[in-house]
Amino acid sequence: MISRAAELLRESRNPVVFSGAGMSRESGMRTFRGEEGLWKEYSPEQLSSLSGLRSDPEVVWEWYKMRLITGDGIVPHAGYKALTFLQKKKGTLPVITQNVDGLHKLSGQTDVLEIHGSMRTASCLDRCGFFTELNPESLQDLPPLCPDCGAILRPDIVLFGEPLPHQVISRSYKLAEECDLMMVIGTSVQVWPAAGVPFAALENGATVIEINPARTELPQGENVISIRGKAGEILPALVDMEENK
Ligand code: NAD
Ligand code: ZN
Repeated sequence: MISRAAELLRESRNPVVFSGAGMSRESGMRTFRGEEGLWKEYSPEQLSSLSGLRSDPEVVWEWYKMRLITGDGIVPHAGYKALTFLQKKKGTLPVITQNVDGLHKLSGQTDVLEIHGSMRTASCLDRCGFFTELNPESLQDLPPLCPDCGAILRPDIVLFGEPLPHQVISRSYKLAEECDLMMVIGTSVQVWPAAGVPFAALENGATVIEINPARTELPQGENVISIRGKAGEILPALVDMEENK
């Protein structure tokens, strides 16, 4: 399975990556549901909504701070590094991600489309135009406030009920329609409309290489090569095989 995938990857002229929360599992990022579950009696919906941010900004920001900025061990794993290597080698490899942890960019990858935004930057909730990178210093006092107008800052992620960034999603669909190969890594392909991206690639006749320890919503067929395993183990092996075939 993996050697066939390496062959396809090698032949591909327009490969694209589509990743989800499973891509970051081995970097220590847990999913919203599952074992992380409720945090201080706050549901993922409250922690990722405008109303939650307005009613309990300190709690919501504490969660983001813990999750990312001061969270220990949240660094790109070997699978990220393999993708960065592959992107440089291929010359073109756009990365569409549902993740908000910023790990693709942190790994040195370029042309990263963050369709659900990023937890690494924040902007003014009252939209005065202020925008900043987040770091431990900027999150010493919670909630962080806009230095220009005094409003609360918001993380630059797509919150529940907000639309996806139009330009990012339309380019993602365009890439899906034009690619000949899509690597679908660590996503259950259940969260719409993002989940439509790999289906659009399949409809367009592209081949999908799926890397996931579990079965997903993707159809099983000759255009889908499913490698059942972890991103941090399969990607380095796949890229190595592609290189040395
Ligand atoms: P999901 O939680 O629905 O599915 C995760 C998938 O990853 C599952 O299919 C699981 O089998 C697979 N998986 C688990 N461990 C893996 C590993 N080591 N290697 C490869 N695959 C592995 O995730 P989703 O499809 O991305 O949808 C969840 C939504 O929640 C997304 O919209 C995302 O924005 C958000 N989210 C993001 C993060 C993050 O930024 N890291 C974390 C949690 C949730
Ligand atoms: Zn402001």
